[in-house]
Amino acid sequence: MAVFTVPFFLAEVRGYSKMYDSSADGPGKWYDYAQFPLFIAFTDFFIYWIHRGLHHKSLYKKLHKPHHKWIVPTPYASHAFHPLDGFAQSLPYHIFPFLFPLNKFAYIALFTFINIWTVTIHDGEYAMNSKIINGAACHTMHHL
Ligand SMILES: [Zn+2]
Ligand SMILES: [Zn+2]
Repeated sequence: MAVFTVPFFLAEVRGYSKMYDSSADGPGKWYDYAQFPLFIAFTDFFIYWIHRGLHHKSLYKKLHKPHHKWIVPTPYASHAFHPLDGFAQSLPYHIFPFLFPLNKFAYIALFTFINIWTVTIHDGEYAMNSKIINGAACHTMHHL
């Protein structure tokens, strides 16, 4: 997964993305806050469709089944993917800063949040009980 991701990070550090250093370099003060829900909405939308596509019979067995071999998920399963599966589901995170401005510190914060989120939906601790937000109970049902 990391190998496939290197070109994106290389392009980002070489200045080809819309990432910026401080609030003064961004679109405005309002965007310091707006980039967070925009990033979550964008990535969640596309990851939903990519994940759904990975469940198509032509892709599932080769690419996505390695993740679902954990019928009862564990925190370790959250990062256990076929490399192309993991890369495909990470694509929206890497494409976002090429389409929309993104503060580099917000990017790190969002990456940290997403990693924690990914672990928590696989940890079997049903801390979230929401019809809107995907939690461990919902994702455990998906694995079952
Ligand atoms: Zn799945
Ligand atoms: Zn899973």
